[in-house]
Amino acid sequence: MEEISQLRNSRREGKIREEQLFNEDLLRTISRHLEKIYSGLHAQNTTTLIETFKNNTICAIREAPNKKRIIALVEESFNQVNLAVENNIATIRDGVESMLSLESKALLDPLTGLLNRRFYDQELPKIVQTFCKLKGEKPFSILAIDIDEFKQVNDTYGHLAGDTALQRVAEVIQKNCRAGIDSPIRNGGDEFTLFLVGATAKIALTKAENIIADIAAATMHFTRQDTGDNQAEENSFNVTVSIGICELGSDWLKFPTKVANQPVLRSDNDMQEYHRLTIKLVKGADKALYEAKEKGRNRACVYTPSPEA
Ligand code: GH3
Ligand code: MG
Repeated sequence: MEEISQLRNSRREGKIREEQLFNEDLLRTISRHLEKIYSGLHAQNTTTLIETFKNNTICAIREAPNKKRIIALVEESFNQVNLAVENNIATIRDGVESMLSLESKALLDPLTGLLNRRFYDQELPKIVQTFCKLKGEKPFSILAIDIDEFKQVNDTYGHLAGDTALQRVAEVIQKNCRAGIDSPIRNGGDEFTLFLVGATAKIALTKAENIIADIAAATMHFTRQDTGDNQAEENSFNVTVSIGICELGSDWLKFPTKVANQPVLRSDNDMQEYHRLTIKLVKGADKALYEAKEKGRNRACVYTPSPEA
């Protein structure tokens, strides 16, 4: 009888030992993977976290072996991993958001909220390149907009009223834009530009005339707070703008066109050619603006290249 009982006991001990060896093996595997995850997450206290997990689990294995306790410890450890993952995601999201916010601030004019000169300089060459790559199939026009006699507005009503007038002109320009397609820009001072992708000079002229009419109709009323002068009369006045229009001409392209299976542009001279077209476009809009000023302001003129240009 005693022999049978000894045999049973030794079998049970063997089973327990087997179970413990299995659990220790499992523990090593889990620890190895946890370590990889933690170091992947750049968790600062990786070693401590793994050591605590190992010690607690070993205790639980030796104590009973208590399977429930072991499962609870593994779960706890993975909860910590989840927490570290969530913290990392939050840190990355914050970083991306602040980068995007800095990037967009760098391209916006603080007074009017329109795009700024930096955007103009970055974007115009890209638009011209795309125009060339599409061989001029998609038209592109720009509007050069300038407030008439703005110096006089500042001199008469003060700089603060001038700033508010700039903001109101910007609002009207913005309202006349197709969201996500047209790019309204404040170049600086009382000068604005509108990039109109997909617009011929004819379409651009209609848009320019709408802007001119909307601005002339927007009577600007200024309170004492706007003018910054407590003694001043409250004022109402109107401003007008002049606009020069220039469409990027597909006949300006000097590249060989319609040559089958050949790239239209080859890199060395490409940049010079893009640059030449960009300058020609900007100068064209400026000439047209000058013409509008010369003809009496509060109007739009379209650039027509002279035959030798
Ligand atoms: P024109 O019809 O020929 O364009 O005449 P103008 O008086 O508008 O032309 P000019 O370029 O001589 O004047 C632009 C004025 O814009 C001069 C400057 O006092 C004013 N200005 C430039 N930047 C700002 C600004 O940020 N705020 C205000 N209030 N005025 C500005
Ligand atoms: Mg002006």
